[in-house]
Amino acid sequence: MLPPASDVVVVGAGNAALCAALAAAEQVRSVLVLERAPKELSGGNSRFTAGAFRCVYDGVDDLKALMPDLTESEIISSDFGTYTHDNFFDDMGRLTEYRTDPDLCELLVTRSRETMLWMRRKGVRFVPIWGRQAYKVEGKFKFWGGLTVEAWGGGPGLVERLTEIALNNNIAVAYEARALSLIADDDGVKGLVVRYRGRTVEIAAKCVVLAAGGFQANTEMRTRYLGPGWELAKIRGTQFNTGDGIKMALDIGAMPTGNWSGCHAVGWDRNAPEFGDLTVGDGFQKHSYPWGIMLNANGDRFVDEGADFRNYTYAKYGRVILMQPGQFAWQIFDHKIVPMLRDEYRIKRVTKVRADTLEELVQKLEDVDPQRALATIKAYNTAVNTAVKFDPNIKDGRGTTGLAIPKSNWANTIDMPPFEAYAVTCGITFTFGGLKIDTEARVIDTDGRVIPGLQAAGELVGGLFYFNYPGGTGLMAGAVFGKIAGTSAGRRAAQSP
Ligand SMILES: Cc1cc2nc3c(=O)[nH]c(=O)nc-3n(C[C@H](O)[C@H](O)[C@H](O)COP(=O)(O)OP(=O)(O)OC[C@H]3O[C@@H](n4cnc5c(N)ncnc54)[C@H](O)[C@@H]3O)c2cc1C
Repeated sequence: MLPPASDVVVVGAGNAALCAALAAAEQVRSVLVLERAPKELSGGNSRFTAGAFRCVYDGVDDLKALMPDLTESEIISSDFGTYTHDNFFDDMGRLTEYRTDPDLCELLVTRSRETMLWMRRKGVRFVPIWGRQAYKVEGKFKFWGGLTVEAWGGGPGLVERLTEIALNNNIAVAYEARALSLIADDDGVKGLVVRYRGRTVEIAAKCVVLAAGGFQANTEMRTRYLGPGWELAKIRGTQFNTGDGIKMALDIGAMPTGNWSGCHAVGWDRNAPEFGDLTVGDGFQKHSYPWGIMLNANGDRFVDEGADFRNYTYAKYGRVILMQPGQFAWQIFDHKIVPMLRDEYRIKRVTKVRADTLEELVQKLEDVDPQRALATIKAYNTAVNTAVKFDPNIKDGRGTTGLAIPKSNWANTIDMPPFEAYAVTCGITFTFGGLKIDTEARVIDTDGRVIPGLQAAGELVGGLFYFNYPGGTGLMAGAVFGKIAGTSAGRRAAQSP
């Protein structure tokens, strides 16, 4: 049975929601988490992640505070560098074309480190991302791209640990409990209507925190807001983020804000299922394209694969792939590069072909013009500036000359057999448009006033991301704003009669 009332009710049980619940529980006794999914599918997109968090650190001492298990030999064998406030601000500004909401961006950046430490104190463990974010050069792992830390056990480990900590803090978690609408009057939000295991019930609440994800898994909303073609994208993560939280807030007058036609979308296996599969997690993604080239159905390259580190291009290239004829592309690599491909290239469910000659390879690229593909690869090989040394740890400037679409870095010739190619389509991660919140994560209405008793955090908040996104920021934003939302909801609930 669901309780008839709770001080704070949190909608969702992903990273943002669980951080909100933990922060609220520091202020009030009764906190209830409502999760639409059954227990085994719970945790939203957060469970699908690698658990990578983008956070500020000024050196190894900051990382040691966050990861006290780091050994001296691990520290000696790693060049962690730094990721300063300025670096994070620069990345957010540059990638969003300076449209990111300055107040929200400021909180994201300046609270990132302290929020991670707060999570650590609660009992979440973090480790460096040696596997995906560092290459070993001259005996030392060098980290690149501002992304250094992941939750222990990745996304599944993060969700399980946060849930365990929530339960230990007397937070109630109800599964198969779908929030349907908010109960509100002129004084603000008073509770919710919930569909729980087939029955519709009302729950009274002094404060509600919405953390129910974006609308990426809702085909109709996706096509309506992102535009034609988006109904054809695959969903990388949970099937349950269908915009419920956004819709129920808009229904009581919340203000929509942010990049409603924008989203995070990546290159994703062409034959992946319609929604994410937790047994594969993020394994359908194919993020080593900066080391190779991508060809479309016409046999043409269509994007600068090496424009920047993958952390700074992958989230916008899904859209570019969706816009290609047939909504797919093939990523091409030769034997020099194959050993460097990320772990996701070696999963069982992969759409891959292999050949000993380029002539044979192009014949195997399903739905591609083979003659044109061969000509494109040959023209590319001739254009590579081989005088510059290939270095995956830096933007090496090893580019092409004379091509209509240049490759700016990591341009490797494709000439050493055997050759491999991987077919990708567009996989959408989450939508950028959402609810307007203030610096206490209180939801703002269309007249610019706070809606009393309503907070929001995570994917369903608008205004942070436009056009693009720096990898690892989704979890960090969810944690920062989840904590802020939970704290402000708990404070209000504690003060309410
Ligand atoms: C494959 C993949 C890999 C990713 N990797 C990373 C990464 O490494 N680092 C990173 O920072 N980001 C990553 N992301 C993005 C990241 O997952 C999201 O930004 C983040 O997890 C969003 O957290 P959230 O709590 O807002 O939403 P979610 O974790 O999606 O949680 C939303 C929850 O709300 C529930 N819900 C929905 N509607 C209702 C309702 N009506 N009632 C009750 N509950 C409801 C859902 O079931 C879900 O549990 C990845 C995403 C995917 C899909």
